[in-house]
Amino acid sequence: MSVPVTHDDVSVRTRAILARLGVDADLDVPRSHASIVARSPITGGNLASLRTADASDVDAVVADAKAAFAEWSTVPAPVRGGLVRELGELLREHKDDLGALVSIEAGKIVSEGLGEVQEMIDICDFGVGLSRQLYGNTIATERPGHRMMEQWHPLGVVGVITAFNFPVAVWSWNAVLALVAGDTVVWKPSEKTPLTALGVQALFERAAARAGVNPAVAQLIIGDRASGQALVDDPRVALLSATGSTRMGRAVAPRVAERFGRVLLELGGNNAAIVTPSADLDLTTRGIVFSAAGTAGQRCTTLRRVIAHSSIADELVDRIARAYDTLSIGSPLNSDTLVGPLIDAPAFAGFQKAVDAAVADGGTVRAGGARVDEFGEYAYYVQPTVITMPAQTDIVKHETFAPILYVLTYDTLDEAIALHNDVPQGLSSSIFTTDLREAERFLSVAGSDCGIANVNIGPSGAEIGGAFGGEKDTGGGRESGSDAWKSYMRRSTNTVNYSNELPLAQGVKFT
Ligand code: NAD
Repeated sequence: MSVPVTHDDVSVRTRAILARLGVDADLDVPRSHASIVARSPITGGNLASLRTADASDVDAVVADAKAAFAEWSTVPAPVRGGLVRELGELLREHKDDLGALVSIEAGKIVSEGLGEVQEMIDICDFGVGLSRQLYGNTIATERPGHRMMEQWHPLGVVGVITAFNFPVAVWSWNAVLALVAGDTVVWKPSEKTPLTALGVQALFERAAARAGVNPAVAQLIIGDRASGQALVDDPRVALLSATGSTRMGRAVAPRVAERFGRVLLELGGNNAAIVTPSADLDLTTRGIVFSAAGTAGQRCTTLRRVIAHSSIADELVDRIARAYDTLSIGSPLNSDTLVGPLIDAPAFAGFQKAVDAAVADGGTVRAGGARVDEFGEYAYYVQPTVITMPAQTDIVKHETFAPILYVLTYDTLDEAIALHNDVPQGLSSSIFTTDLREAERFLSVAGSDCGIANVNIGPSGAEIGGAFGGEKDTGGGRESGSDAWKSYMRRSTNTVNYSNELPLAQGVKFT
């Protein structure tokens, strides 16, 4: 167990970081229904009280973003990349501070807080390159003397709603691609992590000043669900990118569809790993422990289910349980901590409810299962938990945002893949095997039904170079690398006739 830190320490450190990042917002507005209280899950104490944006604030911000789009969309893409380069440089300069703020507000351990900022830097590097690679196709036409091509144009205002657990990186995945694409951005971060958002916005505004760009191209709304809904319903928002729970996605998607807006949804996961008899159990155990217990189980890609062959399941569970015994739980600001707190009391209630439900369904707790209560009444630290299950019951199919790993067994690979896919979500997945046929089968159309499928790597910890996202209740969106930029642009198909004739397609005659 690492040493608890005091709330005063956390509070003083937070204010100093915010000042260094250049945040000048009023952090002490009087508490009322119109304020959001920023707190740290490390101690459960309050850090600041901020004004909540109401519908008229959202309206004004979107109007500014729409106005800024008129000019920004005409700036050549490689010049737009210059703004992203400045942002990447500032993130490098302030990596330690912003990473620590992520630890303070989201509860991530030091290396994961820094890793999240590194992910922002990586996507900035990617964005600078992308700004010179927004390619369209030239297509063979059936008509002589004609040329057909595709161009990609900026889309408009992009609304970005983000979750608490990736409080800075998810904004950057969206904002960098959108800005390079020529769009303008309005961000509504989680009400649980407003301070990291203020820190990012302050850095962005400095980047805009360095690049000589109107800062209205990327703006921030500090607000709650109602502020998010105002963004969702605004017809000037051409694309709404929403990251969070499946419940949120179900509320948001039909409202955007009703006004024929575009949505990009990054919702909940229920990620599994199949462990076959040929798996290297040392490597497998390490992969499982990071993916299941890391970030205290609060990643969308957290490993929540292991589907182990019955011949190795007992040994695997013993190894995981032994590894869990060695994990240090405590303040994420202590560099030896591996498991930090849950975000808040409702998250802890969800943990407890899930453990109880799994036991009621015949599950056996093989590791953890309880709260670690030496960190005070309002801080919610729990032991990473392993529960062996007789079957994939409803609780196993449900995403509980906490470090609970359910273990199921199988006898044939067909059975394992059927169990794997028999959940509503479809984000990330893995197989641990040294058998080429098993690995390829898992990656084939007859294997994992997820957006991400890995071999001998756990499901969490993606790189920015690949497209990120998942299927089914995960929402179908793709962000970050590969050709995810296309979601932020509109395609125009152009046909040019450079002949003196006017042949019609499909041989149609009209004279
Ligand atoms: P949440 O759904 O409670 O909130 C996410 C965001 O949506 C917040 O900003 C919130 O204010 C906003 N919101 C909620 N309801 C809304 C509504 N009706 N209209 C407009 N905005 C609304 O999620 P959370 O607890 O912050 O995050 C955890 C969840 O996010 C988990 O389910 C996790 O799997 C998911 N997540 C998914 C990804 C991914 O890329 N697939 C990444 C991170 C987190």
